[in-house]
Order: sequence, then C-alpha cells, then structure tokens
Amino acid sequence: MPLRRPGHTGRGSRDLEINPVFSREPLRVPRHAMPDGEMEPDTAYQLVHDELMLDGNARLNLATFVTTWAEPQALRLMAECVEKNMIDKDEYPQTAELETRCVDMLARLWHAEDPHRATGCSTTGSSEAAMLGGLALKRRWRHRRREEGRPADRPNLVMGVNVQICWEKFADYFDVEPRYVPMEGDRYHLSPETAVESCDENTIGVVAVLGSTFDGSYEPVAGIAAALDELQTRTGLDVPIHVDGASGAMIAPFLDPDLHWDFRVPRVASINTSGHKYGLVMPGVGWVLWRDASALPDDLVFHVNYLGGDMPTFALNFSRPGAQVVAQYYNFLRLGFDGYRRVQRTCRDVATRLAGEIAGLGRFELITDGHETPVFAFRVREGIDDFTVFDVSAALRERGWLVPAYTFPENRTDLAVLRVVVRNGFSHDLADLLMEDLRRVLPRLEAQGGPRRTADDAGGFAHGTESKSPRRHGHG
Ligand SMILES: *Cc1c(COP(=O)(O)O)cnc(C)c1O
Repeated sequence: MPLRRPGHTGRGSRDLEINPVFSREPLRVPRHAMPDGEMEPDTAYQLVHDELMLDGNARLNLATFVTTWAEPQALRLMAECVEKNMIDKDEYPQTAELETRCVDMLARLWHAEDPHRATGCSTTGSSEAAMLGGLALKRRWRHRRREEGRPADRPNLVMGVNVQICWEKFADYFDVEPRYVPMEGDRYHLSPETAVESCDENTIGVVAVLGSTFDGSYEPVAGIAAALDELQTRTGLDVPIHVDGASGAMIAPFLDPDLHWDFRVPRVASINTSGHKYGLVMPGVGWVLWRDASALPDDLVFHVNYLGGDMPTFALNFSRPGAQVVAQYYNFLRLGFDGYRRVQRTCRDVATRLAGEIAGLGRFELITDGHETPVFAFRVREGIDDFTVFDVSAALRERGWLVPAYTFPENRTDLAVLRVVVRNGFSHDLADLLMEDLRRVLPRLEAQGGPRRTADDAGGFAHGTESKSPRRHGHG
C-alpha cells in the first residue's frame, strides 16, 4: 500500500548514510526530503540500486501473473522507445501503427466475426481495460434505457465474488452496483444459473472471468451466454457479456482452440487481456477489444490528431509509455502463433506436473490442477491440523519463494489455500527445486504440533484476491 499515511515518522525518518565504500564522497542526505543540492550520478545510482536489492527475486515470485523475464531484444527495443508517448500519435505514427496491428492480431486471435469491424486499444493493464469495458457496458445500457423512456440511474453489474479487485474498483468509481455471486460448496466461480438469477432490467452486463484469480479456473462463458439467451427469450432482457481474460485470453486461443469463450459467442461484447501477463511483455500493457463499433458507443470516443487526420482514442490516461506496446508487437512477430503455443504449453505442463506432485505428498488437496490457466490452488488436507497454508507460505519464504496463502471469499471464508502461478521462465528445474524445498520443510511443520500462522500473518501478495469489502457486498 504505497499511499503514505500522513504524519508518518519513526525510524524511517533517519537520513540516508552513504558509505565511502565506492571511494566516492561520504555524505548524508535526507531520506524523506529532497536534498538541497546535487550529487554525482554514480553515487545516486549506487544508492538507489543498493536499496532495491531488498526487493524480492522476481523469478522466485510465484504470486504474480506478471511477466518477469523477457528476451534481450525485447528489452533493447523497450530501451530504444523509452521516450515514446502513446498519446502522441502524430509524433510517433509508427508506434500508433504497431498498436493498431496488435489490435488486429488480437481480433483474429479472438475470432472477431469481421476483424476489420472489431475495435480496441492498448491500456496500462487489465485494470484500465476493465474500466473501459465496464464504461462501454454502462453507456450502452443508459442509451437503451433512455430510448425506452425508462430510468437509467441504478445500473448494476453481475459477476462472481472471485473477480479481481479491479471490478470492485470499477463499480465503486463509476457508481455501478456490484452484484457479487457468492461461492457455494465447491463452486468457486460464476455459474450460468447464478449469473442469470442476479440479472434484471438494470443489469449493464455480466463479467465472465477466463482465469479466476483465486484458482486459475475458467468460468463457463458459453454456458453463461446460453443461459442469458434463454433469459432473453423468456423476458426480453438482453444482457451482454464482458470477458475478463487478463490471463486466460492469452492461454485459451493457443491451448484450447475448441473452447468457445471469445467473439465466437455472439453475446460476448468485449474482451480484455493483460499484455504483461501471458502476453509476455514486461509490466505496463493491457488490451481491450469490442466485437464491433456498436458495442462501443461513439460518445465515449475522443479524437486526436494523427498525421493531419483524425484518430479515435478511448483511454483513462493521456500520456502513457509506448515501449510496452512496441514490445507486444515484437513478441507477436517474434513468437508467432506456434511460439506462443509452445511457451504456454510448457507453462501448463510445468503447472500440471507440479500440482500432481504436490497432491502426491499426501498432505494437500488440489482445488485446481493447472489444466486451464497454468495456475493452481491447493489446501491443507482435511484432518491435518499441525500447520496451516500460512505456515507453508512462511516456510517457503525462508528460501526466497513467494507462494501466497489466502482465504476464499463468501461463502467459503473457511477455506484457505496456497496458489502457484506458473509463468514463462518457471522451468521444470525450478519446479523441482520448489518441490525439494517443500519436502524439506514439511517434517518441521508437522512437528510444530499446531498452527503458528494465520491469515493475519499472510503477506499482502495475493494479487487481487483481496476480499470484497463488506459494505459493497450484498445485493439482497
Ligand atoms: C491481473 C488481473 C486483473 C488486473 O490486471 P492488471 O493488468 O494487473 O491491471 C484483472 N482481472 C484478472 C482476472 C486478473 O488476473
């Protein structure tokens, strides 16, 4: 939580002391105030560099979905593009062109009926993409309600309680009532029946998640669409779907080509993904696409100058770095369909093998096994009460592994799990090392004779699985 608390003092307020170890001038500078004068760039560099050594090792971070490895050529292109501002379409027309090509490629990858009619843009990530997707749903609903002469002041959005925190933000920031469908028994995400039950005339859309943050599972997009078709036949309500494919929209096209979750499903109006997750770009890029212009109301679109002409844009930010978009294009070009397929296949192989071996230890029970997104969650087996998932997470952290442990939301707050996200660069070798460490810590955990750590000790690294705040919960 980098927001600073006002009045924060304490030990952190000491000056920074700079050692003469690099045989440059020893000096002291304030930690929280801007220094009065300058210092040598090498000294400043070393100071910042050294402080950052305390950040974790990104490759051992099994909590994040975000890319932590990229090819040197991608990094070189990014360095060459650091000054490019995405909004300056006129100044950097070729960067704008690469963005358009990426949108065209995604439209084909996601089976837009007519890729030329699909529309979309890059964003800073799936969160901004979700805001844009949600805003388009809201605006479409409002137009329709006004045309019908009906009130348009109480929009709601239907989704599973397992949605990533960005949807809670969307609802909160843009005054939409969030209707979270709770978990029930071993149903850990949205189902067709529960989605439809929550819809009414004020529903702007249903969010279906491809790759639930909690356990990596796919929500049944086609099933939800069929249930909404049936709802329309029965009641006339026409509720569109937005697919949050932050992770899965870059997995399913390559590994599950027969799964219908994308624009092949007519009710799917829009899709987002994180370029910086399984799109394999370093942090800072997402994508959102609409099936055609009618899914994105024109009055949300702004226009900027582009080569003397007009370029439509839809974004929350004005200035935004262009390097990630260039890197996305590089990856598409460099890997092609088959390259992506092989990378994602390997991630899935590592995930399912690792999940199987963890299940084989006899102490854990899998919630998911990594056969959808290469992400799986597991719990301590019923009847084992010498240790908790939080103990396991802490013990693995001693060796540098970041494996988050967290409790599930309503109505399964009794369930606590560990989750592993397998990304490009997490090899079978690294998986073996993780297994060795897990085997090594188990005897110690079993000997401790009772839980030592609880949910309160869990680090804040569960990536968007935070519980929805109670006041935003129920819709009755
Ligand atoms: C990661 C994630 C998000 C948020 O994406 P960012 O790119 O981190 O902003 C939203 N939804 C799902 C399902 C996610 O996994």
